[in-house]
Amino acid sequence: MKISDILSKNKVNLSFEVFPPKSDVALGAVLDTVRDIADLKPAFCSVTYGANGGTSGNTVKIASYIENELNVCALAHLTCVLSSKEDIDEKLQKLKEHNIDNILALRGDIIDEEAFKNKKDLIHSSELMSYIKDNYDFCIGGACYPEGHLESKSKDEDVEYLKLKQDLGADFLTTQMFFDNNIFYNFMYKLRNKNVNIPIIPGIMPVTNVTQLKRIKQLSGAQIPPKFLSIADKFKDDVPAMKQAGIIYACNQIIDLISNGINHIHVYTMNDSDIAKRISDNLSYILEK
Ligand code: FAD
Repeated sequence: MKISDILSKNKVNLSFEVFPPKSDVALGAVLDTVRDIADLKPAFCSVTYGANGGTSGNTVKIASYIENELNVCALAHLTCVLSSKEDIDEKLQKLKEHNIDNILALRGDIIDEEAFKNKKDLIHSSELMSYIKDNYDFCIGGACYPEGHLESKSKDEDVEYLKLKQDLGADFLTTQMFFDNNIFYNFMYKLRNKNVNIPIIPGIMPVTNVTQLKRIKQLSGAQIPPKFLSIADKFKDDVPAMKQAGIIYACNQIIDLISNGINHIHVYTMNDSDIAKRISDNLSYILEK
């Protein structure tokens, strides 16, 4: 099933993200996680693509398990930063063979500057989207950044490139995590003002331990509001309390989004199905299955 069809139903629901293990040894544990997540009847479940492409086989295996064994719609992430068109064709054909209908098309982080400089095509995610749209029948998602992408010259320029993603094939965009909903609402205003009209799915990250905070700042540049810093300061040495506080903070963000007319929210689970379950349980009377 295509995610664009799910989103067009406008039901209040959640989707969840998992990431593939670095080695095959841990694959079973991730399959257990997605099985638990499938019991929550999410709208879809996404599987990330390892930054160096090394885990791409596991992305397909996990997405295929979700789609074909668990009967939950799967979204497979795919990056082009290290890939030629031939590599991308091989991966897309494999995904099609496994009945995957949805791709989150990304550039990926630049790890090897020199190789990236010499790249002839598929430089930006919009080129990957255009290539997929012209040659395959996938529903295509892309990434967007309410606080700007770390490489962006300006937020306005970022929005121009998001318009390009829409024009070249994106059916929806999922946001980078954010912790202050006002940042998301301002971003939505800018997008709609520039005629970016495709669905924008907010991505919510329940921060359940304090070591995550430093990494989040480094990797995403997301601002951590003083309110959440106080929570982290209060509960940093009490593992269960910190986890509960992080889940409640995420639920508050989700309820605020829903009450402001956003029907679909994507949750970054960090492969912890307990987080997904506790969020779903908290919202059990609100979510529409
Ligand atoms: P692009 O859309 O290509 O944008 C990258 C930068 O280039 C931006 O600054 C943009 O403004 C600029 N730009 C875009 N188009 C143009 C253009 N035509 N000309 C000039 N500049 C342009 N990474 C992974 O490795 N695996 C994953 O599974 C993964 N999943 C993600 C899921 C989500 C929801 C998000 C938000 C991010 C994810 N990432 C993942 C991280 C992502 O790969 C990085 O943020 C990467 O640096 C940018 O990817 P992109 O697709 O946004 O790139």
